[in-house]
Amino acid sequence: MRMPGFTLTRRFRSLRWRLTFLYLGLLSMLLLVLGVGQYFAAREVLYRSSADVTINEYQAVLTAFRREVASRAASPRAELQQLAQELKSRRISAAIFDLNGVPLVLAPATLGAREDIPYLPLADYLNAIHQKPQPYYLAQAGNPPSTHLVVLNPVRIGARAIGLAQLSIPTDEIDQTLRVDRQLAIGLSLVVLLLALLLSPLIVGRALRPLDQMSRTARAIAAGDYSQRVSVADTADEIGELGTAFNKMAAGVDAAFEVRRASEDRMRQFVADASHELRTPLTSIAGYIDVLGRRQEVDPVTLQSSLASMQVESARMTRLVNDLLTLTRFESGKAPSRRPLPLDAWLNETLDELHLREQGASETRTIEPGIVVEADPEALKQVVSNLAQNALKYAPGSELRWSLFREDGRAAIRLVDTGPGIPRSDLPHVFERFYRGEKARDRSAGGSGLGLAIARSIVEAHQGTIDAESEPGKGATFTAWLPLPRA
Ligand code: ADP
Repeated sequence: MRMPGFTLTRRFRSLRWRLTFLYLGLLSMLLLVLGVGQYFAAREVLYRSSADVTINEYQAVLTAFRREVASRAASPRAELQQLAQELKSRRISAAIFDLNGVPLVLAPATLGAREDIPYLPLADYLNAIHQKPQPYYLAQAGNPPSTHLVVLNPVRIGARAIGLAQLSIPTDEIDQTLRVDRQLAIGLSLVVLLLALLLSPLIVGRALRPLDQMSRTARAIAAGDYSQRVSVADTADEIGELGTAFNKMAAGVDAAFEVRRASEDRMRQFVADASHELRTPLTSIAGYIDVLGRRQEVDPVTLQSSLASMQVESARMTRLVNDLLTLTRFESGKAPSRRPLPLDAWLNETLDELHLREQGASETRTIEPGIVVEADPEALKQVVSNLAQNALKYAPGSELRWSLFREDGRAAIRLVDTGPGIPRSDLPHVFERFYRGEKARDRSAGGSGLGLAIARSIVEAHQGTIDAESEPGKGATFTAWLPLPRA
């Protein structure tokens, strides 16, 4: 039994879930980085703009104040005190520091609440007086302590710095705005992540669906159904390419098995035909033995004729077995031992050896000299001999016209006879193994149907072709075409 936990872990290890988690992880990181960045940017903008507002208000007060005191000649300290009083009215806590950073005047926004006024480190004051103040500072003040935004502004009369004005406001309003902003960002991020969690398995699953189909198809092919293919979406992505490649592979496997099936069928047919051919003479011999064995006494005439018949049958069997051996030798694809062969001399010699005239055939030869091919002379001799034997058998008494010529870059050996020709129904089959034409089926004519098949296998082993043409009643033409060696 399978444990449910095991199935669940397996499920989440699937590519679909692994991609989903990877994607969600990346998305969360991205959202976190964006959220934090956006938070700090917003905080900076809000603080700076509050600092600007505070400074502007201060400038307004200062301008009004200057106009007022311009005519009066008072001590700087008294002037500063008066300025502080002016600011106090604007909800801004103010303080004035002298050039050494010592507080001179404190003007809290809330009357009497001196704790409202934040203090920065002395270095900040001195830096602000003698160099340039930062846009804003943050400091703690009040009871309970809270964060205040502090702006420093040197007070000058003409080019002369006479002190430092510190303006501060509590940041709680800004912080409130930022808190809302932060909560909104977190909420939205969670919604985005949830949506991604819900949608991405669907999207990823959809993209990976062809892979599921491919593994199903591969299983079906492994189980023997070679016709299975995957349906490939016409997208140019990796999965589409994989699908196309997969289908090509499946087609290749299918074709290879088809070739194997066909060759096995041919082999089965060949064995069946060969057995059939051998059975006839064997049955015949067994019959003679049986008849002779039953008799008490056999007269010499019967014995002689039986033995003669058995000899004929055994000679037929020997011929057949030899033919089968020749055929399998050339059909196994073993290359014949080829050498450059001057065809004119070779053909003359071969035809002389066949003694066709002595077998009652008239013969002519038209031989083009100088044709040389790469061939096995013994094997080619068998081709010529088989063609000649057929002509003697099927076109007795006809004229045999041999020719040797060159055409379309090939050498041709042709035999034309003037016999009865080949019936149209036989013509496409004469090169098949064990095929005998209508007239040849009567065994007295002798053929086993292998002569032309052997001729074809020899010519094809030389990368050549052989063909037969015939007008019924007007004789037959057989041509063996052999490739000429490249110059
Ligand atoms: P077989 O052993 O019967 O001669 P082949 O393969 O040599 O077998 O020939 C196949 C068939 O082709 C023959 O049975 C015959 O019908 C036909 N054939 C071959 N050569 C000729 C020819 N010159 N004229 C007419 N028919 C022919």
